[in-house]
Amino acid sequence: MNRHKSFLLALDQGTTSTRAILFDAQARPVRSHGIPLRQIYPANGWVEHDAREIWQAALACARAVLKGLQAGDVAAIGITNQRETSLIWDKKTGAPLHNAIVWQDRRGAPRCAALKKRGLETGITRKTGLLLDPYFSATKLEWLLKNVKGLKGRSVGASRSDQYKDVAFGTIDSWLIWNLTRGKVHATDVTNASRTMLWNLKTRAWDASLLKLFGVPRAILPDVRESRGDFGTSDPMLLGAAIPILGVAGDQQAASFGQACFAAGDVKSTYGTGCFVLVNTGEKVPRSRNRLLATALAGSSGERVRSKRLAARPVRKAQYAIEGSIFIAGAVVQWLRDELGILAHAPDSEAMARRAKAAPGLYFVPAFTGLGAPYWNPGARGAILGLTRDIGRAEIVRAALDAVCYQTRDLLEAMRRDMAAAGLSRLRALKVDGGMVANDWFCQRLADLTGLTVDRPVVTETTALGAAYLAGLGAGLFQSEHDITARWALDRRFHPAMKKRERDLLYRGWLRAVTQVQ
Ligand code: ADP
Repeated sequence: MNRHKSFLLALDQGTTSTRAILFDAQARPVRSHGIPLRQIYPANGWVEHDAREIWQAALACARAVLKGLQAGDVAAIGITNQRETSLIWDKKTGAPLHNAIVWQDRRGAPRCAALKKRGLETGITRKTGLLLDPYFSATKLEWLLKNVKGLKGRSVGASRSDQYKDVAFGTIDSWLIWNLTRGKVHATDVTNASRTMLWNLKTRAWDASLLKLFGVPRAILPDVRESRGDFGTSDPMLLGAAIPILGVAGDQQAASFGQACFAAGDVKSTYGTGCFVLVNTGEKVPRSRNRLLATALAGSSGERVRSKRLAARPVRKAQYAIEGSIFIAGAVVQWLRDELGILAHAPDSEAMARRAKAAPGLYFVPAFTGLGAPYWNPGARGAILGLTRDIGRAEIVRAALDAVCYQTRDLLEAMRRDMAAAGLSRLRALKVDGGMVANDWFCQRLADLTGLTVDRPVVTETTALGAAYLAGLGAGLFQSEHDITARWALDRRFHPAMKKRERDLLYRGWLRAVTQVQ
């Protein structure tokens, strides 16, 4: 292969850190660099990030992994990012007008409650696939437009559409694209747009009535493009060459792409701080009747069509997923380490869980910040139930890991019902990734408690990998999804070894424990 332009640069902007990973033409990670991100807590339940710090870190990470290379060696940039986190900036100066409001931020809760009371949730869900929750961007943007001083004064125009003439809104992907292209491109991709609660999944466009409801002028919104699209080129002054940005996807959709979940029924589950399960539901917009979300996937290339105008160019097909999320997964291990001091390091949880005594009736419900899907109870709080005198640290650690498995089963039960209603066949295997899956005991327990085969790939950095694949497809380093599927390599398969009766009995105990914290 030609030495030139054979690398892909993935920028992975996460909640707690910003990273750049350089992949070679075989999609193997060859270098990476990360910088932690400062968390800003201005009030109870509020979480912000400094947008300038994010951009500076992304640039520094990119420069670090490109050191010694000629930037011309890089075929394309792919971006993946924490979703829903929202910011506004001044189009003229490029300066952020406020800190970014992070997905975890709850300041929109009263507004969501008021809209729910007006009976608006069903309509919003039908359009966006989302539930009325402050998690999504709409109420964050509404808050910014109402509370950032002097916004309207930025232009003297009298008409409403002129009022915010110089204001740009974006999620983190848009912010990075804007900065990489030095203000030439104001765009986002379909997966990020689908988390704003302003974008209609069916029409695949910003929804005029939702913009009106949240007081958002159309002119401040980014252009929405397919994930595998043209997002401009990086300014040559930044990285030493103009590199095309050819792939953009929100973190979970990028992970789904990196796990080669291209067919309806393919499912991946990512275990980082939280846990996100996405099942590909194909080309029709799905509807969850079990309090899960419908969301856009990065899409498939579909068949190559031959026509005069589009000679053998692939037609992109929209694809969707049903998504369920658990707020606390690896975070419970962090808590055991940092707050209780039971563990020196997160990986120690494996040996501890292995030596734990059987403790029937012991359940740890880590509802530190309420319960996510399918419960959606922001008021729930955590508890450890069924304590007896002989319970020690090891048993508590095991119960914490069990809780992540039971919560996965909660999501899978809801998904199973939604999938049956959509005519999809039953799930058989779960492709897992994220920091927690290095833990073999956890992976085996997950198989036992869900009754599904658990497949762990060799590369578990699937988020960055997905962004690199999207960019690499655009740049022609990979020809099609078949190339990606062929590269997906199994590290280890975990088969369920527990009897169904035992599994169901344990799960019933979990359901009782969850009832007690609500
Ligand atoms: P994020 O991308 O959300 O920061 P990562 O995918 O890097 O998360 O995973 C880190 C999380 O995984 C941490 O919460 C940590 O507690 C947990 N973790 C890491 N290694 C292990 C392990 N061997 N066993 C259990 N949990 C682990």
